[in-house]
Amino acid sequence: MKVYEIFSSVQGEGVDVGLVASFVRFAGCPLKCRYCDTQEARIGGTEFSHEEIIGELKNLGLSYVVVTGGEPLSQDGLPDFLFKLSSETWVKRIFVETSGFFYKADIFVKKVFVNISPKPPSMGMDFPLESLENFIVNFPDRVQVKFLILSEEDLIWILKIVRKYENYFSKKGIIFQPIGIPEKPYSESVKRAIDLVMREKTILFRFNVRVIPQIHKLVGIK
Ligand code: SF4
Repeated sequence: MKVYEIFSSVQGEGVDVGLVASFVRFAGCPLKCRYCDTQEARIGGTEFSHEEIIGELKNLGLSYVVVTGGEPLSQDGLPDFLFKLSSETWVKRIFVETSGFFYKADIFVKKVFVNISPKPPSMGMDFPLESLENFIVNFPDRVQVKFLILSEEDLIWILKIVRKYENYFSKKGIIFQPIGIPEKPYSESVKRAIDLVMREKTILFRFNVRVIPQIHKLVGIK
């Protein structure tokens, strides 16, 4: 598999923000999101065997593993890799970070939870909603959605999804993650996202709503 980097840090985003974990960032992504924040990992990478990756992760000495990219679900060997990784006794839980463009049921081996960041209109992509539906309908307890947001148009798009899958979001809550814009302070994006969300009083009233910034961008870590 093509690996961009393996390292330890804290989870910088989503409901598990702050969790100390080992990370494997796979290289490669066929998509071209406008504000991609991992451009460097979209191409290239170094070929590693499954055993080599698992060995490096084990050496980091932590029991939670985050599998990210790039787009890890564009890697052919991912289900097999996750099966081998989940069979390791030192691994407690595996979190896969994905855009949600590509639905794959066979990644849901034991210990695997999937964090999906659907790409809203400001990312310039035509996001396949049927893929998101497959994830949340087939694996509701193993999937967490975090909505990237930058603009009013994004918010309208997100609210349509929330209304369509109201039962799911009533249970899981709604997470908004501000999109960073290159050359601009991330704090501006965070304030804009909070302003947008706070206008939607009907949503705030009915759901458990959180705006969670990417802390690694705020503090300047991986
Ligand atoms: S899916 Fe992720 S890695 Fe791929 S282009 Fe979009 S933001 Fe970048």
